[in-house]
Amino acid sequence: MKILIASDMEGITGVTNWDQVTPGHSEYARFRKLMTGDVNAAIRGAYDAGADAVIVADGHWNGSNILIEELDPRARLNSGSPAPFGMMQGIDENVDGVFFIGYHARQGSPEAVLDHTWSNTCVANVWLNDVLAGEYTLNAALAGHYNVPILMISGDQVVCAQAIEQLGPLEAVVVKQATGHFSADCLPPEGSQRLIENAARGVIKKLKRGAVIKPYALKKPIKVAVELNSSDMADKAMMMPGVRREGLKLSLTAEDMPKAYSAFRALVLMSYPR
Ligand SMILES: [Zn+2]
Repeated sequence: MKILIASDMEGITGVTNWDQVTPGHSEYARFRKLMTGDVNAAIRGAYDAGADAVIVADGHWNGSNILIEELDPRARLNSGSPAPFGMMQGIDENVDGVFFIGYHARQGSPEAVLDHTWSNTCVANVWLNDVLAGEYTLNAALAGHYNVPILMISGDQVVCAQAIEQLGPLEAVVVKQATGHFSADCLPPEGSQRLIENAARGVIKKLKRGAVIKPYALKKPIKVAVELNSSDMADKAMMMPGVRREGLKLSLTAEDMPKAYSAFRALVLMSYPR
């Protein structure tokens, strides 16, 4: 049994503001360590319950946040950016399930810590096949292409609720109760990491017992729509061939999810202000 841990940073234990997740800021070092701790808890739970292999994708910012020297030595780390599959580097048909660790709610969610979708600079909204999407939706749909289900998520109560509503009854670990974009009632790591470890152990046992957890597979072709924050961003991103524009909303159709994922990332990259 092979597990991919797709990690992000905004939903890590204790995180409530951008300084804590921004390389170069004095607070960042503490939270890299906490991110590594949340991921290690998930790795321990997975191996404890009988997983054979765990790969970790470091999906925040430049993909170089997790402290490899402190990572559980049984795991492998996909580090650095850009990687071909970004936040989901390592996904293929040989993976049996994915854990989302340190995730955050989609852009525009009330009372959610650091809610955004892919880029808080450029992106107002994203839709996949006309359904409003968060990063968990994009990443789950990519896993779904390979018939791989999302088994668990950790983050604040809002991302957990959004993921359950959209992806189905996965295991959810609320490590903080968000009270605003920059505020939350946080569990200290000893408590949150115990919950993550237990959830990981439980869901792997469930999978081993033959429980069927449905992958989030979208109907092909895939329609991707992105609403950008300003006209200059839309002017740049619409240079990509095949893109249709309605005001700030750009859309394109891709034959499958890997191509849709790549086109979405390219479109957002092109839209960045210089
Ligand atoms: Zn992030």
